[in-house]
Amino acid sequence: MKTIKDYDVKGKKVILRCDFNVPMIDGKISDDTRIKASLKTINYLIDNDAKIIILSHLGKVKTKQDKKSNSLYQVYLKLKELLNTNVYFSKNTTGIKLEEYVSNLKEKEVLLVENTRYEDIDDKKESQCDMKLSKYWARLGDIFINDAYGTLHRKHASNVGVCMLLPNGIGFLVEEELNKIDSFLNENTNPFVVIMGGKKVSDKIKVIDNLILKCDKLLIGGAMSFTFLYSKGFKVNKEYVELEQLDYCKNLLTKYKDKIILPLDFKVSTSLEDTTYLTKDIENIEINDKAYDIGSKTIDLFKDNLNNAKRVLINGPMGVFENKLYEEGTKEIYQYLTDNNIKTLIGGGDSASSVNKLGFENKFYHVSTGGGATLEYLEGKGLPGLRVINR
Ligand code: ADP
Ligand code: MG
Repeated sequence: MKTIKDYDVKGKKVILRCDFNVPMIDGKISDDTRIKASLKTINYLIDNDAKIIILSHLGKVKTKQDKKSNSLYQVYLKLKELLNTNVYFSKNTTGIKLEEYVSNLKEKEVLLVENTRYEDIDDKKESQCDMKLSKYWARLGDIFINDAYGTLHRKHASNVGVCMLLPNGIGFLVEEELNKIDSFLNENTNPFVVIMGGKKVSDKIKVIDNLILKCDKLLIGGAMSFTFLYSKGFKVNKEYVELEQLDYCKNLLTKYKDKIILPLDFKVSTSLEDTTYLTKDIENIEINDKAYDIGSKTIDLFKDNLNNAKRVLINGPMGVFENKLYEEGTKEIYQYLTDNNIKTLIGGGDSASSVNKLGFENKFYHVSTGGGATLEYLEGKGLPGLRVINR
């Protein structure tokens, strides 16, 4: 696959697709990890005298009000602060004013274009990969570089359409993410243990199907375990049981009965507002009990199964880690893995935030910045954003 390094970018207009889809609270950026993660590629382009035109989406844009709340203006201010060069902001995603910015751009200068999804107001042109829009944007540049790892699973005009029309390659962030995940998955060190949690089985069936073949053990926690437990006849919080997945879970449990490990106990309560909880064995859980975290027997069971693991892949937290009362399961597992220096890859949007929230930044082999993209990559099928990159 071609990368940014395969091109001489001096004096060239480089269209750089970034993932600036950052979380915003009250009009301010609440976590700038994604912006900082893009700096390596942007600075490389600055150092190599390119004229840099950045495209990114932010949130969903369906109404005029969405335009206001999802403007990239705050990202522009942040870039100005972080980059040691002139940074401009085009409020328009198409049109004469944008074109003027582009033609006035000098070497080493950066132009951030407003949220590409502003074009979704008009027939979802960006999200549906409208080729007229793609051609328009492609005409603004000479080379296209995709560094928007978190968007690789989408087929948008700004990451797939434009890419098809220009000489192209991937940026450093995408390259690093793929290298980390590929080398982890292809390394034949065993036991390889997969831990899955979070909410829905249905979101993750293809990931499970792919990884179950590769791993030695699959530990299932979180609300995801409820459908598996229910399929074995246990009572669990029905809210999270996916009846249409019962057969899938039953079959998987039969086929891989020695590989799959399910929880033995949970911390249960009546609701998240209730500040008390009880730890109950799975046999004693009643129909109205809400299980918000795995219990201590389960934590021990999972640790036993991680005991001699060489590689661990985690997708999905063990409980409602956002709530202090129910962070223990997820935290204890992370602690065990770091204490024992077990090579751990973590993927999934909420899983990545749990790592930060629980104080484990920079403690693991890799925490992927892309939620959906990493999940789709782990499914073992190609990603739309990568399929169109020059070989
Ligand atoms: P990821 O984004 O890492 O793929 P998911 O989106 O599948 O993970 O799930 C994350 C969410 O699952 C978290 O917000 C967490 O609160 C929730 N969750 C985990 N365990 C439970 C549980 N036992 N009951 C309710 N929600 C849970
Ligand atoms: Mg999630």
